[in-house]
Amino acid sequence: MLSTTLYEVRDARFRELLILNAKLDELFSDCLWAEGPVWCGDWGHLIWSDIPNQRLMRWSPQSGTETFRPSSNFANGNTRDRQGRLITCEHGTRRVTRTEPDGSITVLADSYQGRRLNSPNDVVVHPDGAIWFTDPTYGIMTDYEGYKAEEEQERRRVYRLDPESGALSAVADDFVQPNGLAFSPDHTRLYVADSGGSHLENGPHHVRVFTVEEGKRLAGGAVFAQIDCGVPDGMRVDTDGRLWCSAGDGVHCFDEEGTLLGKIHSPQTVANLTFGGPRRNRLFIAATTSIYSIYVNATGCEWG
Ligand code: MG
Repeated sequence: MLSTTLYEVRDARFRELLILNAKLDELFSDCLWAEGPVWCGDWGHLIWSDIPNQRLMRWSPQSGTETFRPSSNFANGNTRDRQGRLITCEHGTRRVTRTEPDGSITVLADSYQGRRLNSPNDVVVHPDGAIWFTDPTYGIMTDYEGYKAEEEQERRRVYRLDPESGALSAVADDFVQPNGLAFSPDHTRLYVADSGGSHLENGPHHVRVFTVEEGKRLAGGAVFAQIDCGVPDGMRVDTDGRLWCSAGDGVHCFDEEGTLLGKIHSPQTVANLTFGGPRRNRLFIAATTSIYSIYVNATGCEWG
């Protein structure tokens, strides 16, 4: 099996997913903690969060790195909806927002059953327009990535925001810390990371898989994969259904059965990743203080 400082091949199929002469490029190195990367294909740039610095950044091959939004309220996860609007989780304001084409910001969710959310962490959009997000407590545990505060919710949940009514419903609540999430290419599965092991000795460090029923409810929730270094955070799915998951030592790639195919090692702990570039075959990796990129022989789902 191939094993280099960059790649760790656990299954022969992983070799086919690698561009062996590709290198890991460091695109930016001045974050305190990079998170929430989202590729905006129509604009040709990447947006991500630098959580403790309270800013959203953007990078393009033409312009390099610039500040996209200087006051981000400790923003974390980002994605885009079907209209191309930026959807953002904010720790500082404990809410999920949408940035409208004119730049104004609409609050989509900030409470559940009359009590404030914990600190929305990561977000995905279903083809029906529903917004699904996780609500762990990381943004209220310290003043470093939000504002220290008490939990008002009894559970740390996954929520679904209905596109028609705007109603928020809890779709799963049995996590220590629900974190990254991703739909399978056909949206019949939802993967959810539980990163509870970050602060709890012997806490979970796994990804669970749920069946999405009628686009509205979750069933199942078995452990799909254990992360053997650090905890899982953000993740993305490619067009063949493989799951690319953040971990302490890089990006781990799993097949649809949960078999670890291999790893792309990173010099720093990875918090999140996304596919981008004109062919969506370039991984952008948010890893602590840096944004890295590397080409792979896989294609990210358009709305991964
Ligand atoms: Mg996260």
